[in-house]
Formats: sequence, C-alpha cells, structure tokens
Amino acid sequence: MWNGKNVVLLDGYTYYKKNKSRNLIKWACCMSKYCKAHLKIDNNMIIRERNTEHPHDKKGILKVSSGRYIRL
Ligand SMILES: [Zn+2]
Repeated sequence: MWNGKNVVLLDGYTYYKKNKSRNLIKWACCMSKYCKAHLKIDNNMIIRERNTEHPHDKKGILKVSSGRYIRL
C-alpha cells in the first residue's frame, strides 16, 4: 500500500516526498514553491510533525502524472 511515489493529500493540500531520514519521510507542500508547510510521517503513516500554515489557498490542486493520492 505504501508507495514512495505517492502524494499525500491532507486537508485539501498536496505534499510531495521531499526527503527521508531514518524512518521519517518529510513531505513538502507542492502547491507553491514559497510555501514552507510540511509533514513528517513515519513508516506507520503516522504524522509526527506538521506545519500546515500555507501562505496560499487550496486552489489549483496539482495534477500528478504518476502515483496516487494518499488521504490521511
Ligand atoms: Zn502550501
């Protein structure tokens, strides 16, 4: 089920897999390059850390050419 190519969809915002450290994966908002919102999710898909302050709205959900959305 877990597929590293997937995109996380949380509260209408999409996040892409940015980097991985040990057993935490950092997901960064992919809707604006100026946005610093991110999530850190462990191997059990539990959110360990979140910054969901987006300086933009939810418009224009990114179309992802490969992979599926994960709803948390
Ligand atoms: Zn954002």
